[in-house]
Amino acid sequence: MTLLDPLDGDPDGALAAVPVARRAPARGLLRFCYGPMDCGKSTLALQINHNHARQGRRGLLLVRHDRSGEPRISSRIGIARQAVEVDADTDLRRLVVGRWAAGDHLDYLIVDEAQFLSPAQVEQLAELADEVRVDVYCFGIATDFRSRLFPGARRLFELADELQPVQVEVLCWCGAPGRFNARVADGEVLREGDTVVVADTVAEVVEKETSSPGPPEAATVRYQVLCRRHFRLGDLGPTAARHGQLRLT
Ligand SMILES: [Zn+2]
Repeated sequence: MTLLDPLDGDPDGALAAVPVARRAPARGLLRFCYGPMDCGKSTLALQINHNHARQGRRGLLLVRHDRSGEPRISSRIGIARQAVEVDADTDLRRLVVGRWAAGDHLDYLIVDEAQFLSPAQVEQLAELADEVRVDVYCFGIATDFRSRLFPGARRLFELADELQPVQVEVLCWCGAPGRFNARVADGEVLREGDTVVVADTVAEVVEKETSSPGPPEAATVRYQVLCRRHFRLGDLGPTAARHGQLRLT
């Protein structure tokens, strides 16, 4: 009997008629943790990585357009880890198989800013979970500034084994849970924009908003998390002139 023989856990042989492939936990998990901007997703991603690494599991951190502009996962509360930057052409299966070929047998992947993945890349993650038994933990924003699902987030909602709203609440100025990332320019909520480049725009603006002042044109566009009602109404609240963003409960 090998170490992996599922009959080890079936002393009565009650499952003997079930093909081994049906009984063994022969696939990994695909989980999508989602929430609005500033809700602590990157912090949670790094915490999960820490927990798994402590148990001796081998992981790889991936990111698409991190706010730092560098290939790493960085959180707004100041922690950061090196990560592999995924671009539009990256085949995530090849990436993982390449690591295995180099002797690095990955147990899990952490993917931050996963809303920017293409649907095809999300499908590659599902394939890795199913066929290579890699656990995949994705973190990202569900909807864009128009309140529409990002294509990558949509595919994750469709394929993930587990969907988990991130628990750290971001509040609208009114105190209600913030769920929508409003794109704001000159005190107005923007409803239209170039959806094709929305991913890049988000990353660029977030980066400039959280670091020292960028070019003047970037400084006029920002994001504000609103509840559904105030997103609908385009009401930025009495403190709209301020750039207050991060409110942890
Ligand atoms: Zn509100």
